[in-house]
Amino acid sequence: MSILVVGSMAFDSVKTPFGEVTEALGGSANYFSAAASFFTPVRLVAVVGRDFPESHLDFLRSRGVDLRGLERAPGKTFRWAGEYGYALNEAKTLDTQLNVFADFAPKIPEDYRDSEVVFLANIDPDLQREVLRQVRKPALVAADTMNYWITGKPEALKRTLAAVDMLIINDAETRQLAGEPNLVQAARIIRAWGPKVLVIKRGEYGALLYNDGEWFAAPAFPIEVVRDPTGAGDCFAGGCVGYLARAMRFDDITVRKAMILGSVMASFNVEAFSLDRLRTLTTAEIEARFRAFRRLCHFEELEPRATEVG
Ligand code: AMP
Repeated sequence: MSILVVGSMAFDSVKTPFGEVTEALGGSANYFSAAASFFTPVRLVAVVGRDFPESHLDFLRSRGVDLRGLERAPGKTFRWAGEYGYALNEAKTLDTQLNVFADFAPKIPEDYRDSEVVFLANIDPDLQREVLRQVRKPALVAADTMNYWITGKPEALKRTLAAVDMLIINDAETRQLAGEPNLVQAARIIRAWGPKVLVIKRGEYGALLYNDGEWFAAPAFPIEVVRDPTGAGDCFAGGCVGYLARAMRFDDITVRKAMILGSVMASFNVEAFSLDRLRTLTTAEIEARFRAFRRLCHFEELEPRATEVG
């Protein structure tokens, strides 16, 4: 089934201990669509400015992403600048220029309104609800958010969460949103506001799933080369929600598999700057890393009396 994604298209300037790029192609909708396109057709709604080269869309086009919902507005494209230290978990935002994103009012094309799966990437929670108002009756609504909205628009965000089935955020955002330092209790608090499924991303420590009272933990894949974590969260969401849209089943077993595929896509994306690793990625590589994940997490049942001495 097709996924509708609404989010940002950006020029990112990123510095990590392993290199830097200036005005590279980025944005939450961009990363999400590229990752999800390995599993299911994607329909994108976003805005770019007049400075956005047509050639920057070639990759998404080559992946079959439907770009009819991409608006071109007078003005400059959204820009984000960030820096990472050796602890690659946390981006330090150096600069955010909303530009055309400031006046963005998502218009969902008529052909997209029947989308069965919707991903609301990180945008103003009022706009996220505006997107939901324009779609018919999705079977799954997944969403992301960030500290900017948790502090800036907490009430609007809570109203959005009431209509969200699956929230995919990081651990710091989970604590901040719930106002509770313990992740287990924070998950319960957020569950009560709406999302039946909560995915808590923990960077190089993997991800936790809280699915209607049940916990599942996915590790992060141990990779030797990490160059740029930008977009890891969105690629995680792309792999996870992309697989759910393909399966169109949302039971615990399927959601667990989706979590692992999210981790797989994030683990590839961090190997290079911008979307570069996704450009060369193949489905055979995705399947091989999924199998490697299975080996990474697998262990046998404890034999009887293993804890008895003598
Ligand atoms: P992540 O997957 O969390 O690393 O997201 C990285 C992407 O989010 C970058 O490509 C940025 O362009 C984009 N981004 C950063 N800040 C914002 C924001 N306030 N609104 C929308 N997108 C953003």
